[in-house]
Amino acid sequence: MNIQIQDLSQVYKNDFRALNKVNLDIESGMFGLLGPNGAGKSTLMRILVTLLKPTHGEVFVNGMPLSKNRAEVRSYLGYLPQDFRFFSKLRTWEFLDYAASLAGIKKKKERLAAVDELLEQVGLFDVRNRYANKLSGGMKRRLGIAQALIGEPKIIIVDEPTTGLDPEERIRFRNILSNLSQKEVIIILSTHIVGDISSTCRQMALLNRGEVHFQGSPEAFVKQSSGHVFKTSVSFEQMKLISEQYPVITSVPGANGYEIEFVADEVNGWETTLIEPNLEHAYVYFMEYVANEKFQYQ
Ligand code: ADP
Repeated sequence: MNIQIQDLSQVYKNDFRALNKVNLDIESGMFGLLGPNGAGKSTLMRILVTLLKPTHGEVFVNGMPLSKNRAEVRSYLGYLPQDFRFFSKLRTWEFLDYAASLAGIKKKKERLAAVDELLEQVGLFDVRNRYANKLSGGMKRRLGIAQALIGEPKIIIVDEPTTGLDPEERIRFRNILSNLSQKEVIIILSTHIVGDISSTCRQMALLNRGEVHFQGSPEAFVKQSSGHVFKTSVSFEQMKLISEQYPVITSVPGANGYEIEFVADEVNGWETTLIEPNLEHAYVYFMEYVANEKFQYQ
């Protein structure tokens, strides 16, 4: 599978330009779309799943223009929207059964087999008789991914799936996605959480204010901040000073102060050791020094 996004722009009715000349090449595997809130990720996802027609540009799916093949492309798609909701009156398995009939699986026996398989796959088989609205937040999100997987889609699009989940559920959700990426499918995961772009993402892009600032492997993105990540020890008094000067990423308190890691273009007046960057360092470095925007932890 492959998706080519060419010169895509989206201007909303109020003249707000949410996407500006976006170009991306996406191959099979997991693709991480990283960007802060308001970057334009949902707008891009909504265009890809044919809910929104772009103002300008084209998307090609295996070479087919999306604008002329909407129905066919739709038949390849599974989508978990950011604000996924379901009817409160249905039990977990009934909801999936209903979703399967909407997806066109007509024979009841076939549907029930597909439902059982999906329940197993996302770890909800034991709670299949529970009302869907009584599931925990993480379970609801897993039910969301299960409905996106009905009909074995070749393109799976998940928009901010781990927001609001506790760390354990977040890891569980990521594992479901990385198991899927073993198959010949494209999974596009949009997120503002750096930790979601795990090593299982072979490709990633960074979107900011509607523009793509980077596309490549997570390793190549990390390399961009090489030589700009430092560690040092500071006293309790110095902590305030240094955190006003540079974005501090981690701080571990000790008896006499903090062990900190921070990013900087260059460091003046502090004794530091250069360290190997990770994805979080690279993202903060990019937002602060390349895009020049204050980074905010969510
Ligand atoms: P993200 O998913 O990265 O948070 P969105 O695509 O939801 O970003 O939004 C990008 C920008 O477009 C935001 O500033 C948002 O307020 C704006 N926006 C989204 N939908 C509309 C709309 N229907 N009309 C006008 N502006 C919109």
